Amino acid sequence: MSEGCTDIRETTFFAGRPGFATEPEKKAAGPLGDRKHVMEQDVRDLTIIGGGPTGLYAAFYAGMRERSVRIIDSLPELGGQLTALYPEKYIFDVGGFPSVLAKDLADALIRQAAQFSPDVVLDEEIRSLSREGDLVLLEGKRATYATRTLIIAGGKGAFEPIKLKCPGYDEFLGRGVATAVRDPSEYRGKRVLLVGGGDSAVDWAMALKDQAKEIHLIHRRDGFRAHEKSVADLRAAAENGELTIRPFHEVREIRGEDKLESAVIFHNRSGEEEEVEVDAILTFLGFKPDLGPVGEWGLEQVGNRIVVDRLMGTNLAGVFAAGDMVDYEGKLDLIATGFAEAAIAVNSAVQFVNPDARKSAGHSTNLKIFRTN
Ligand SMILES: Cc1cc2nc3c(=O)[nH]c(=O)nc-3n(C[C@H](O)[C@H](O)[C@H](O)COP(=O)(O)OP(=O)(O)OC[C@H]3O[C@@H](n4cnc5c(N)ncnc54)[C@H](O)[C@@H]3O)c2cc1C
Repeated sequence: MSEGCTDIRETTFFAGRPGFATEPEKKAAGPLGDRKHVMEQDVRDLTIIGGGPTGLYAAFYAGMRERSVRIIDSLPELGGQLTALYPEKYIFDVGGFPSVLAKDLADALIRQAAQFSPDVVLDEEIRSLSREGDLVLLEGKRATYATRTLIIAGGKGAFEPIKLKCPGYDEFLGRGVATAVRDPSEYRGKRVLLVGGGDSAVDWAMALKDQAKEIHLIHRRDGFRAHEKSVADLRAAAENGELTIRPFHEVREIRGEDKLESAVIFHNRSGEEEEVEVDAILTFLGFKPDLGPVGEWGLEQVGNRIVVDRLMGTNLAGVFAAGDMVDYEGKLDLIATGFAEAAIAVNSAVQFVNPDARKSAGHSTNLKIFRTN
């Protein structure tokens, strides 16, 4: 599993992005705090669990079909495996792109979906699914969301940040130790230890260095997997005395009484230990997928996958699935396959609500919504 991820953009990714609902707009549209009051404005025609390539393409296609859409993802940013697992890898088998960086493909998919202003709910894991009349209710960590139809594009499952296994980590998680930056200003004037060698660790070290009192970045290897230019900038900042980088170092223990006070780090070649006084620790060790609750929703499954028919329908009425999470004969876990499944699933969802609706959106080349003149 990769140690890196790109959550540097998590707090800013959607700010000002055309087409994406702002926080106040989302609150106004409102996920349901209380399921007794299912207001029409809270209900979406289609909710998509999973903001990976399949879910994003489904959101775009549903926009072409002029449906109201909500995308929900457990991660703090969209892109699924592309951004969480391999943002810096080139992909060579997506039609039309001889090669494309995973994070650039994610960005293009986000922009494509954003044309139709889907409601985006991030950092939210859907835990259970129930029905109220014609609606499907999705119970998340923070709220309940009502929808007429659902597409599950959950890939390999909800991604969980990988945690360090060392004394003190669990004790101080959320009390000085974190796996993501929620608000950069929290680190103003603090001594911060960052752990990791991917984009998140490198980007956040650079982003926080001007406001933090001290930045120490440790990584268990010598080479960083982050983008080359980011690593060059990091090394330049270290040479300039703006932060310290310690390759071949890992955390042995996290210490403190009432609050976090220090971390014991060690050189993994010499074994030499050192206690570093810190106010905050950020660990960027990548994500592990967890199928988790999806397996408990009454969906017919084969192994960890949801069984779908040719219309991407599951055994639950109004619930469709697409992408890496589905199973049918000949299924391929590819981005290209996920796109096609997403389009079929959206068309099926549209016809589920209105059997008289057109079978598909038609060709985008002929659609008025895309005409620029
Ligand atoms: C290293 C690597 C290289 C790859 N290279 C290629 C390649 O070259 N070409 C190719 O075609 N494919 C490649 N793949 C596979 C490709 O990335 C997947 O097929 C694709 O990401 C599947 O998209 P998806 O949207 O179905 O799922 P995902 O990308 O996994 O996205 C699913 C999203 O759903 C969210 N989610 C799941 N459950 C919940 C829940 N209960 N609540 C809220 N959110 C939830 C997850 O957080 C995740 O963000 C590669 C994969 C890896 C790991």
